[in-house]
Amino acid sequence: MALSIDTSIRSRNYARGRGGHRIRHITIHYWGTWVGQSHEGIVEWLSKWRLRGRTSAHYVVSPGKVSQIVSEADTAWANGNRTANQESITIELCPDPARADATLVTCAQLIAEIRARHGDLPLYPHKHWYNTDCPGLFTNRLDELDRMARGRVARAARSVAAATAASKPAPNLTAPAFPLPSGFYYGPRRGPAQSVSGHVRNTRVPSDVVISRWNAWYSKGLKLWQERMKARGWKITPDGLYGPETERVVRQFQRNKHLVVDGKIGPATWAAVWTEPVK
Ligand SMILES: [Zn+2]
Repeated sequence: MALSIDTSIRSRNYARGRGGHRIRHITIHYWGTWVGQSHEGIVEWLSKWRLRGRTSAHYVVSPGKVSQIVSEADTAWANGNRTANQESITIELCPDPARADATLVTCAQLIAEIRARHGDLPLYPHKHWYNTDCPGLFTNRLDELDRMARGRVARAARSVAAATAASKPAPNLTAPAFPLPSGFYYGPRRGPAQSVSGHVRNTRVPSDVVISRWNAWYSKGLKLWQERMKARGWKITPDGLYGPETERVVRQFQRNKHLVVDGKIGPATWAAVWTEPVK
């Protein structure tokens, strides 16, 4: 059954469009800072124009209930990070621990429908983008939520989306731009400076190799590529680090797709995981 989404209230807190960015992820929030607030109360609060502290989200979710207050084509103000706002679809979850399972079931169905429209977007907790505890009790349940969204709920949503889209063909995924400068690639730590492994600081690509919230270096681009490979069914850990597992997977993937088998993730191997069919 398709989700029924209440769009009767629209937020005044958003920026038109996406500032030229592509939608790349879904960010999960909870309204734990407003414990005791009703679904309707949060919808109203996120929609109302205020002079200061204006904030919003695309969706508000409680068990069996979804409100959309910002269009997916527009930027909601939820993540405390401009680029993350421009590249995210944001979802606010009901913080009631007694109903957390039911909230996740409804959210999983919404995610499945979003992915049917936008491709296989990864899930992030709000705290990935900003120093916050959000999404609180859901922080450690995003893998579970992801699995639910890919499971039965997802199949149901996909058939609904397919029926709704009628004759529209499935969208081809477009690969995000290769994140590294010309001549650089993701490769082993033992390589030259052009070989970005994520294990150590690389002053040539300061926006790609960054410090995680566990205070360790990792590559954002490599992590994105690994996440996409994982979503395609490969056994790979999306940790933003180039190690033996990633090298093995890269070489196998390159063989499968008739790419140059060198173990390096350059522009061609980068793009292929989005543009090449899975089988
Ligand atoms: Zn949040």
